[in-house]
Amino acid sequence: MQLFLNGKWTGLNNCTEVLNPYDGSVIDTVPCASPANITAAIDGLARGAETMRNMPAHQRVIILRKAAALMRERQEELGRLISTEEGKVLTEGRIEAGRAAEAIDLSSDEARRLHGETVPLDSTPSGVGKLGFTLRVPCGIVAAITPFNFPLNLVAHKVGPAIAAGNAVLLKPASDTPMSSLKLVEILLETGLPPEAIACVTGSGSALGQAICTDQRIRKISFTGSAEVGEQICRMSGLKRVTMELGSNSPVIVLDDADPEKAAAAITITGFANAGQVCISSQRIITTPTIHDDLLYALKAKVEQLTIGDQLAEGTHVGPLIREADAKRVGEWLDQAVAQGAKLLCGGEREGSLMQPAVLANVQRDMRMSCDELFGPAVGVTRADSIDHAIRLANDTRFGLSASIFTQDIDKAIHFAREVDSGNLHINFGTAWRAETMPYGGLKDSGMGKEGPKYTVEEMSEIKMVVIH
Ligand code: NDP
Repeated sequence: MQLFLNGKWTGLNNCTEVLNPYDGSVIDTVPCASPANITAAIDGLARGAETMRNMPAHQRVIILRKAAALMRERQEELGRLISTEEGKVLTEGRIEAGRAAEAIDLSSDEARRLHGETVPLDSTPSGVGKLGFTLRVPCGIVAAITPFNFPLNLVAHKVGPAIAAGNAVLLKPASDTPMSSLKLVEILLETGLPPEAIACVTGSGSALGQAICTDQRIRKISFTGSAEVGEQICRMSGLKRVTMELGSNSPVIVLDDADPEKAAAAITITGFANAGQVCISSQRIITTPTIHDDLLYALKAKVEQLTIGDQLAEGTHVGPLIREADAKRVGEWLDQAVAQGAKLLCGGEREGSLMQPAVLANVQRDMRMSCDELFGPAVGVTRADSIDHAIRLANDTRFGLSASIFTQDIDKAIHFAREVDSGNLHINFGTAWRAETMPYGGLKDSGMGKEGPKYTVEEMSEIKMVVIH
């Protein structure tokens, strides 16, 4: 495929292959842009920002509505593309395509709702006799830098609200999964987005990041990806608005009064979807003493049932990791944990980029698979003496994106929700659950700012205050 730059589909001499992570077969090639291409893209988007700023809300609504409808019509094709380039099983690819259409549709609703408000200036004596109101205006050019693991939905969560708020968008998708983004651009152009209002530039983030982040004409950067890259982007961006949706190592607390079968079933879904490559994957399972053995028994039995293989074959439960190197890294972290005293109950065998889903018991808080983001198909179980000990362990991390608890006791559930420092908290389900409408985002090193169209349009627009004297 070509990239979309300055209102045109453009090929470049320098291209890179997009691979199917299951067998390494080449799906297509995409251009590797240079920093000069970024500058050229921003030149075009500066004109696009003017066009978008002057476009009435009802027209933005129509473009997004039609795009959502086309995405629904093409859900199967988009779902297959997502799975092929990313490696998630076809059922998950289809679900992601449907959710992305939802995100675009919800963005169209927000385009209608954006508004300023009157400000009660007479609430202080100096304001008496004056009229004050705010105008909400677009940021101008928004840069959207996106990760590999949800190559359409996380892109839709940035591009949809950016358009809804009247911005032009520079989109830099992950190098492993650029094609879903390019397809979304095709759809938006088909439904009437002015070509100068969007650019989709493929190529290495480390090579292009500086050109994107230091250009003064970009007012807003919306990034989803690892904490390490997020920090680099914040350093480079200087005085820009930024939203950071970063990683995590999400804890699930299972208390003695929970049903071990239900908890195990939820952990099997939320720890192993997309081969564990979800920012809110259940990773650290923390149990109180009485339920510990029953939970391990139930969890092992369920996880052993998960089949690995070709993500496009109906019936596969867990597809490949994005690259073989990532599967190797996950294997090394599991080996390290075992060498330090953890017990491997099942899984962990690797064939290329595939890894058999694993459950480890006796995982300690200082092991790497507790401290860092694993991003692979394994969960580690840790014992806690009490709910307060479990909450301390849950909070014993630099991350804070999602956390969950299983209990029948509402007081304990609310205590958990108050005490655990996390942007998303789930009661009686695992950590990997999101509705497109939610204010979604992390605390601590998991980031700043919220996504979800209602919240993203606010992050992608600014307020001007007008006073009539
Ligand atoms: P990365 O941080 O490696 O990459 C994310 C994006 O940043 C890619 O487009 C990448 O480009 C680009 N990039 C890399 N280096 C730079 C740079 N120096 N300047 C600017 N851009 C750069 O993340 P992954 O793609 O590996 O995604 C996985 C991570 O994303 C996990 O940590 C996961 O938790 C997190 N994530 C967070 C979510 C959330 O909502 N909080 C949701 C989903 C994922 P390239 O691909 O070319 O390197």
